[in-house]
Amino acid sequence: MSKFIPLSVPNFEGNERKYVDDALDQGWVSTGGAYINTLEERLAEFLHTEKTACVQSGTSALHLSLVDAGVQPGDVVLVPPLTFIAAVNPVKYQFATPVFIDCDDSFCMDPEKLKGFCEQECIFTDDALYFKGQHVKALVVVHVFGNLADMEKIMDIAAKYKLKVIEDATEALGSKFTEGKYKGKYAGTIGDYGAYSFNGNKVITTGGGGAVTARDAARVDHIKYLSTQAKDDPHYYIHHEVGYNYRMTNLQAALGVAQLEELPEFLRRKKKFYEEYLALFRNFELGSIMPFREGTDSNHWFYSLNIDRTKVHQTMREIITELEKRGIGTRAIWDLINKQIPYQGEVTYRLEKAPFYAERILNIPCSTSLTDEDIKRAAETIKEVLTEFANK
Ligand SMILES: *Cc1c(COP(=O)(O)O)cnc(C)c1O
Repeated sequence: MSKFIPLSVPNFEGNERKYVDDALDQGWVSTGGAYINTLEERLAEFLHTEKTACVQSGTSALHLSLVDAGVQPGDVVLVPPLTFIAAVNPVKYQFATPVFIDCDDSFCMDPEKLKGFCEQECIFTDDALYFKGQHVKALVVVHVFGNLADMEKIMDIAAKYKLKVIEDATEALGSKFTEGKYKGKYAGTIGDYGAYSFNGNKVITTGGGGAVTARDAARVDHIKYLSTQAKDDPHYYIHHEVGYNYRMTNLQAALGVAQLEELPEFLRRKKKFYEEYLALFRNFELGSIMPFREGTDSNHWFYSLNIDRTKVHQTMREIITELEKRGIGTRAIWDLINKQIPYQGEVTYRLEKAPFYAERILNIPCSTSLTDEDIKRAAETIKEVLTEFANK
């Protein structure tokens, strides 16, 4: 049998070993060391933003963004239902209340429903929005699978109702607008805060890690301060705030500097493979490859096959298991967050598209180390299995 084609694996073709060895040789393995500063500077350069702060994970990047935005116990934060749960958990860390707003066909927050919720379910008074007496302070918009959300509309609504915007760009490093008001802007650099992840399955990895940027560079400084135990004086242990141990380590950053060097090439390959899949599935009647938003250049992080549920009735588990047997790694889009035990009591607003897509979307192999032959075999095997299932 031919080799297994995994869904997504990291790629270390560049200077990873060299830089990690260098960090080891220097003895700088923890939260001090030159690679962290280098990664922060190069990331800021890449994103055309003033500053970034490197942290332990995308989750901690999101958490510190909420902390800095002043989200407190009892506040409301508007969040998506169809994404990875780490986008929403930090709201709970702050003892705030999430309210789930539906997505549009990009899987990202639907601005029409966001507007509907703010207009119809809330009261705007004294320059603040209230939902059942609770202050709606922020929203978390996720650029799902690297697909940019409709930021023009979302930012307008947020400005009108004084909501802080936290962009979860953990899946969207390198995605940018090519048209409209935000032309040239990268995911994460439009809202008040942008969070990135360098987990093993993301477009670049530091093993585990993340970064934050903010429109106001002073916010980045504060987040960096919070991430290093809010230490005001390096020698005498003076602390003016409750801090966190969220700083990235130099070992992680050494990996990150090497990965960032390769990012343009990774993005080129991801786009090329996406176009190959588009062609291979073009006339397939049981599923189609979902597009990325027009007027954007996506990082094409994950590819989404939209399965026709009027013809293929097997569960996602059955489809994924059969593909696994035939050597192809795939996964289902997430189960809805509002259905998970910690979130079952929370308010949802007009969820229609999220449950619809939760049943239909299969992610297919997307590693940057794939070959054209791998893409062909993955597509053929997926088509074969879905065709057999449809005929059952
Ligand atoms: C990966 C991911 C995160 C969390 O990033 P970690 O680095 O794993 O903590 C948050 N939100 C979304 C949408 C993600 O995909």
